[in-house]
Amino acid sequence: MLAQPARQIMRPLRAEPAWPARSTRVRLALAHIGADRRALHGGFCFASIRSVARSSSLLCSAFLVSVVIALASYRGQARAAQLEELHLRPPYELRSMSVRYPWRGHLVRGMRLAESSHVHHVEEYLEHDRFFGTWQLVQLMQRAATAVAEQHPGAKLSVGELSAENGGLIIGHHSHRNGRDIDVAFYLKDDDGNPAAAPTFLRMSAHGNGHYAGRALHFDDERNWAMLAKLVSDDDARVQFVFVARTLQWRLVSYAKRIGAPDWLIARARAVMIEPSSGNRHQTHFHVRIYCPADDRPSCQDKPPYFPWYDGIPPGGFYAAVAGSLAPEL
Ligand SMILES: [Zn+2]
Repeated sequence: MLAQPARQIMRPLRAEPAWPARSTRVRLALAHIGADRRALHGGFCFASIRSVARSSSLLCSAFLVSVVIALASYRGQARAAQLEELHLRPPYELRSMSVRYPWRGHLVRGMRLAESSHVHHVEEYLEHDRFFGTWQLVQLMQRAATAVAEQHPGAKLSVGELSAENGGLIIGHHSHRNGRDIDVAFYLKDDDGNPAAAPTFLRMSAHGNGHYAGRALHFDDERNWAMLAKLVSDDDARVQFVFVARTLQWRLVSYAKRIGAPDWLIARARAVMIEPSSGNRHQTHFHVRIYCPADDRPSCQDKPPYFPWYDGIPPGGFYAAVAGSLAPEL
């Protein structure tokens, strides 16, 4: 790949907030209790309607409106808190450490990517519980799953394997040894366009079609693009590779252009998407790899390419060239 001289182009990683103080959790709990109390007042109000004169109904209405506003406000606060948690730096004793290379390394204090309202473990991979990664990778995937669910509700991110809790060699993978790799199933949809999932990874044809148990399932362009767009634009974890078959890369880029995605986003996606030249062509899943988290260097080690969004100074100070324009801040 062509290289270009180092430039002062990287802005520092956003300062990550500390783990939530107990007072924050107490505040949230109090907000919840407050909402319940307001709801109780509303219940009393309903009783009053039956027993007191009509003149009080205006007051009751005001109560009900305030309850609705309070509940909406509480939901907004809870949502903000939930999003905030996806960017938290764990306390030191819980912080993971990625050591050496993805194909020759291990993981210390791996964080488990748990199932949630937006994340699902593919059944085929439940047995060995290899859902551990660096906390940066785990939170990145949670953010990506959340972004997809918010833009296109109705589907979960289907997760295959990351690493074992302490990393090292796991059967079926050459890499996946130090918590920086994750396999995720393609988002799928059925013939009617509804979200669908399978208990295993499905092979997609060049036209984005597959089958499971006699049922036709299709590559979901909009959700897969939404996930990819979040992965390559995340401020905290920087993606180096997304291994996926060339035919599916083409689908994703075509879709992105069709919906008017920004050029810089498409340029980043094109840069990271690679079909491995040997072995698994990745027609059944995405394999995502992030660069070493800054905290884990120099124990954690990267190899080229160092794209302009790499959050450090590459060896020799040279970044890989990327075709097309990039985000103005890069
Ligand atoms: Zn993989």
